[in-house]
Amino acid sequence: MRNILVAGNWKMNGDSAANAALVESIVAGQPAAPNVEMLVCPPFPYLSAVGAAVAESRVQLGAQNVSQFDRGAYTGEVSAAMLVDLGCRFVIVGHSERRAMYGETSEVVAAKYAAVLEAGLTPILCVGETLEDREAGNTEAVVDEQLDAVLSESGADGIGRGVVAYEPVWAIGTGKTATPEQAQDVHRHLRSRIAAHDAGVAASTQILYGGSVNGDNAEGLFSMPDIDGGLVGGASLKAADFLAIADAASRV
Ligand code: PEP
Repeated sequence: MRNILVAGNWKMNGDSAANAALVESIVAGQPAAPNVEMLVCPPFPYLSAVGAAVAESRVQLGAQNVSQFDRGAYTGEVSAAMLVDLGCRFVIVGHSERRAMYGETSEVVAAKYAAVLEAGLTPILCVGETLEDREAGNTEAVVDEQLDAVLSESGADGIGRGVVAYEPVWAIGTGKTATPEQAQDVHRHLRSRIAAHDAGVAASTQILYGGSVNGDNAEGLFSMPDIDGGLVGGASLKAADFLAIADAASRV
């Protein structure tokens, strides 16, 4: 059985005081269920402080982005080794905001994914289609291209050492969640595509859903057979909302 992962992507939000209060409440309220894992991904400048705050708990620390390069003249970039140094365990790669706003191609995302694995961290690979893609019937073609770039670079073994997050772009930050059935269809497809390379890896890989997950819709989503938790944006910024999602996870 795969554990359920509830991951919070704080994006470019928070400050020292707000983060301290948020993480203190999350640590205090984390559900006891051993199959529910929790992860917080604050902005880079706060990784150390948030890492210290979760150190004695089961809440894990992750970053929202990473450089594909090891070191050197890459002004403003952060390497995977630096994230290890700060106590991170997870790194989100290929979030749709980075693909759309910072021009990250699937090849760049695959290089970042490989750099994260090389550092011994767990990458969370985001894939997902725009509304235009969906309406044109291209959902599977889009997520296939995004997944295949990583399969080519890191192999099925590399996918097995990471997490996949299906995040339809039209559902991110919009309040429009995919229905459990819509999400399940894409999750099943992604798992079968991984299974074409390695059935064992496909069976054990966590595939998260992301896109306006909240305390009311989480249980329906997480009850689907191929949905193994959520990557949560807006609702991860309020402890009560994030914990309501974790509580939903502990009920499925
Ligand atoms: C996200 O950005 O990864 C996300 C899922 O955001 P939200 O939950 O706000 O839709």
